[in-house]
Amino acid sequence: MSKRRKIGDVVRVKYPSEVEPDPFVAQIVESGSGPVPEDCIRDCGDPDCKEWQVVHEIGSDGKPNGERQFHISECAMFDIEQASKKQGKPTMLFDESYLVFSSPQGLDFHRFSARGLSAGGWSIGEKFDDRFDTEVGGFSQIAKQWFDGDGKMCGDWERTATGEIAAERNPSVIVDYDNGAKRYTEADAEGVPELASVLVRLRGRETAYVAFLAEKEAAKARREARKRLYQTELHRYGVRFLPAQVMRQIFTNAGV
Ligand SMILES: [Zn+2]
Repeated sequence: MSKRRKIGDVVRVKYPSEVEPDPFVAQIVESGSGPVPEDCIRDCGDPDCKEWQVVHEIGSDGKPNGERQFHISECAMFDIEQASKKQGKPTMLFDESYLVFSSPQGLDFHRFSARGLSAGGWSIGEKFDDRFDTEVGGFSQIAKQWFDGDGKMCGDWERTATGEIAAERNPSVIVDYDNGAKRYTEADAEGVPELASVLVRLRGRETAYVAFLAEKEAAKARREARKRLYQTELHRYGVRFLPAQVMRQIFTNAGV
C-alpha cells in the first residue's frame, strides 16, 4: 500500500523498474485537471493509489533545479527519511565501538564483518596477512547526540539540504589485529618500516576504490540520459507510461 500525498509534499521518487528514471527528490506542484489527482495507471494493485501530473525536481541545495517530471504515481513515491535508510550504507555507532575492540572475540567479529561489509558492491575489509587487514571505502552516516542542560538526551542524524542523512567517506586504514586493532591512516603508516608492504596494498586499494566510484558516477550519467529520453518519448507519444520492453528497445536504438 502506498501513501496518499498532497500538493507541496517533498518525496523521493523511485521506480520499480531499472529502465525507468533514476530516483530523485521532488516536490508535488500540480494535480492535473482539478484539485484531485488522477488514478494510478501502473497496475500496482492499490485501488487508492493516485497519480500526480507535475512534480518539480529538488537539487542537492534543497531548491527546485528547474527539471520537471510528469505523471508520477504515489506507489513510486517514498518518504525522504525512509528512502535514505534504505541506501544500505554502513553506519558506525562510535559510542559503542569500544565494545567491539574490548575483547578478542570482538576483534575477530569486527575483522570478519569488515571483510564481508559491502558498500554498494565494494568489500571494505581485505585480509593482508594474519596480522594486518586493510579497510578502504564506504561512507558513514553521522548521528550527533548530547545531553542538554536538564540532562535530557538530544540529537539526530546530520542532514543535507534535501533532508537526507549526511554521509562522510571513511578514511582508508591499515588495521593491526596483533595490537588491539590499532588503525593507521596512510599518513600514520608513512615511514613505519614494518607497514611498508601493507601501505602499498592500501594505496592500490584506494586507487581501485576511486576508480570504482568513478564508474558508478558514469553509470549514473548513463541512467540520467535514459531518464531524459524516457521523458522525451512520453511527450512524443502523448502517453503517461511506457512498458519496460518498449523502453528497452528505444534505449538500444538510441545507444544509451
Ligand atoms: Zn500505483
